[in-house]
Amino acid sequence: MPRIAYVNGRYLPHNRAGVHIEDRGFQFADGVYEVIAISEGNLVDIEPHLERLNRSLGELNIPWPVSRRAFGFILREVISRNRVSNGSVYLQITRGVAPRDFAYPKDLKPSIVIYARGTAKPSIETASNGHKIISQPDIRWKRCDIKTVSLLPAVMAKQIAADEGAIEAWLVNEEGMVTEGTSSNAWIVTAEGELVTRQTDNLILSGITRQTVMKLAKEAGVKCVERSFTLEEAKQAKEAFSTSSTALVKPAVEIDGVQIGDGKVGPIARKLIEHYLNYMDNPS
Ligand code: PMP
Repeated sequence: MPRIAYVNGRYLPHNRAGVHIEDRGFQFADGVYEVIAISEGNLVDIEPHLERLNRSLGELNIPWPVSRRAFGFILREVISRNRVSNGSVYLQITRGVAPRDFAYPKDLKPSIVIYARGTAKPSIETASNGHKIISQPDIRWKRCDIKTVSLLPAVMAKQIAADEGAIEAWLVNEEGMVTEGTSSNAWIVTAEGELVTRQTDNLILSGITRQTVMKLAKEAGVKCVERSFTLEEAKQAKEAFSTSSTALVKPAVEIDGVQIGDGKVGPIARKLIEHYLNYMDNPS
């Protein structure tokens, strides 16, 4: 079955779907995106994702190209046309097409690209493998709260991680604090047993998975504290993991070659993986 992508009002074969060479997304990374997990054909946390998209668009003064309701319909149509049961949908809205100039005309029609990708349904076994992560300096801008397609510092750090056989790079700012992963939020369980993830501000993306995992932790009786932590604290933690819509809850057992805890996936990560997988099947 051919893959189908949605581009500016048309459903096209994936390999023939393209945008204009003067699309500002292509030339200036002038656009925003979302990645939403699909579980049994359902979009996981669709409303918070659309709300964050709304915020990202607003911060960049890009209008919604279609109504939010119509947008939800198109997302579901792409999933259905590609018969994806489990996987993710990628959506991108850019400011639109204009002759190349840093300043933009106010009346542009934003461009939309949406496509879906199927993956194997995650299981507790596959989700519970421990991974290596490394640290990298956080060289990004000061508006990481906007989910823009301007991702080069993250691409560079993630490539260094991949070259070193690590699954993610945690980014460390000039104060020595871990901000987040290149494409995930960072969590630790401290030596004292406290579940910690950084507070949200302009230096990180407010992850939808982060929000859901905080809720699930609370329901499971695990207290979560939102505060900054240093790389050193992370290396001495009992547990460490990252969260994102595609990685879900991804445990780390090594940071920069330092073993975390006893080198095995810890009980809190395990519990949260289990709760998150259940949640994906029955989101509330
Ligand atoms: N931080 C960054 C920088 C990201 O790119 C992502 C994933 N896109 C996240 C955090 C996690 O966000 P979410 O849980 O909404 O996927």
